[in-house]
Amino acid sequence: MTQLPLNGLVADRPAILSLSASDLEAWLVSHAAPAYRRQQVWGWLARGSASFDEMGDVPKPLRSELEREFRITSLRQIAVSEADRGLTTKTLYELDGGHSVESVVMRYSGRSTLCISSQAGCPIGCPFCATGKFPFGRNLKANEIVEQALDAVRLLGAEGRRLSHVVFMGMGEPMANYQAVVESVRRLSDPELLGISPRRIVVSTSGLIPRITQLGEEKLAVTLAISLHAARDELRDVLVPINRKYPVADLVAAAQGYADRTSRRVSYEWVLLAGVNDTERDAKELGRLLRGKLAHVNLIPFNPVDDTPYRAPERAAVRRFKGLVEAQGLTVTVRDTRGRDADAACGQLHERVMAERTKVSA
Ligand code: SAH
Ligand code: SF4
Repeated sequence: MTQLPLNGLVADRPAILSLSASDLEAWLVSHAAPAYRRQQVWGWLARGSASFDEMGDVPKPLRSELEREFRITSLRQIAVSEADRGLTTKTLYELDGGHSVESVVMRYSGRSTLCISSQAGCPIGCPFCATGKFPFGRNLKANEIVEQALDAVRLLGAEGRRLSHVVFMGMGEPMANYQAVVESVRRLSDPELLGISPRRIVVSTSGLIPRITQLGEEKLAVTLAISLHAARDELRDVLVPINRKYPVADLVAAAQGYADRTSRRVSYEWVLLAGVNDTERDAKELGRLLRGKLAHVNLIPFNPVDDTPYRAPERAAVRRFKGLVEAQGLTVTVRDTRGRDADAACGQLHERVMAERTKVSA
């Protein structure tokens, strides 16, 4: 892992994407530049420009003014770690004000996926999740979410690759930062910016029912993933504490409402915790809950997190549980555990860097 120097906590110029399209156009016009320069600037950002000076078709004096007034990004890289023989790159960023978040780039043949953060920390507090162990920091702004993607575009562009998919499966609960997440999805999918099709954007949630319903009304048609992990309230109340407020049957009804509205199949995520939710009983309960629905189950073998009571299941137990769920008539995929050696379960690089800093300052 490479640790990069901290650049201090002082926020300086606003990030260019903290302005809406119309605000940037107004700024340009007030600086005697035509509004269409906004499209040019966004075009350069979408191609991964790291400075205004690279923006060749923007006149030099305007580039200098942009440089004086704005930053390309508000994110500062503070640690980078690689795994899977270079196929996975995880980056920890410092935000203005000092909180940090991480994102993970995963390269596959024919596509590249970014796992993005929507909050510094997470207020939900699932007991198996590294992010949930830290005190909640703050919501990210839309531009801070999009800037993670721009950084990934830069990284991948240098390798001749394109960012094709984005999953909101990094730090935070996207539906607890609703407005900024929806705004960021609009920008990620805006053809004038990143132009990523909404169906290639996955928003994963622990289950905030009112926000799932609202998302269905946005006409965004992103892929919805529900972090289910248990099909009975008694167990889900423990694994995903928001279940005490939004019980599992209501959650599945809301998710299917989303599927009906958008005609998009819903993904149900199931972190496999040995001896906890990988039994025949769990498979049967899952079958009863989802059979006949426009749904797909993703099994995620637990990525071990220190100081939790949970263990990853053996490979054979994963295969067995997959078979049991398939026998219930559901379609199932076992998600690969990319980046285990890059601390790549959400929150883990953050956890390690924070632990090392604590050691240094002790
Ligand atoms: N807060 C949202 C999105 C971020 S978490 C949510 O919970 O859906 C993204 C996914 O990673 C969730 O399905 C979550 O349950 C899973 N996850 C968290 N910690 C994990 C771990 N240690 N091992 C495997 N998956 C984990
Ligand atoms: Fe938050 Fe998701 Fe982690 Fe639960 S799994 S604590 S909702 S980030």
